[in-house]
Amino acid sequence: MGVLEIKDLYFTYGGSDTPALNGLSLRVDEGEFFGITGPTGAGKTTLACCINGLIPHFYRGRLQGRVLVFGEPVGESTPARLARSVGSVFQDAESQVICADVEQEVAFGLENMGFSPREMEERIQTALELVGLSGFRQRPTAWLSGGEKQRLAIAAALAPLPRVLVLDEPTSELDPLGTREIFQVLRRLNREMGMTIIIMEQKTDYLAAFADRMLVLEAGRAVLEGSPAAVMRQQADLDRVGVRVPDVARLALMLGIGRDENLPLTVDHGRSLVEKWLQKRGQSPFHTGKLIS
Ligand code: ADP
Repeated sequence: MGVLEIKDLYFTYGGSDTPALNGLSLRVDEGEFFGITGPTGAGKTTLACCINGLIPHFYRGRLQGRVLVFGEPVGESTPARLARSVGSVFQDAESQVICADVEQEVAFGLENMGFSPREMEERIQTALELVGLSGFRQRPTAWLSGGEKQRLAIAAALAPLPRVLVLDEPTSELDPLGTREIFQVLRRLNREMGMTIIIMEQKTDYLAAFADRMLVLEAGRAVLEGSPAAVMRQQADLDRVGVRVPDVARLALMLGIGRDENLPLTVDHGRSLVEKWLQKRGQSPFHTGKLIS
């Protein structure tokens, strides 16, 4: 089923002459882990806002084309109704997390949705467990690290159990460890709960390793779309657009290893291909320092 269908979408912010989205078409199916990348200014945030309804319900501008979420035009829905099926997570965890403690933060969004106290309790527990914050329930939010705050923002977004989660560069302020934790949480939501993940992200090392399918945006247009391996093979295009090809993929492309879908996108996969490549050439993959026995 189509979670998201976008057809010939154009959007220009009020007061601007340049379209932020410029004829974009896109389809995301239920259960996909879909990654959207592109340089700053490519239109990623604008696209996220078109999916979660901030456009047209909050931001004004010229909108043309179709955005359907579960078959319903976003413009004809209301932000409250959309929030039940689309959970949103933004870049800046600091400004998203507003309550004094972890439990209140997750409960906050649920309170306006008419859940019974028992349902709320269940959902708070489930959401915190899914993001690995079960032991943090009473903790003041001011004590959380950046990564924990972002995981809390994800817990709050997923507590109503939306069928799709849209995340706009959720790891932009996190270090590699915090970034990996967020991607692992998202993979778990995707695999175990069947939640559709749509994530805007510039960190292509993670995006390519975790996503099923990717889209590259440039100046509000789709320039590449396909599996991470298919997209990352287009090194010249990505270099031109300003999207980073992960080092492991770049090395494989240079050595001519990892054909088609077998292009390595994780270090483990890359290492095993390089070892095979070296063995074929009669070179030991291991350092040749003498063993002292
Ligand atoms: P990205 O998330 O890929 O960095 P954005 O969607 O934020 O891209 O921006 C796309 C274009 O829209 C940019 O040219 C940006 O300057 C413009 N833009 C973004 N937000 C606004 C706004 N509120 N008002 C006017 N122009 C905006």
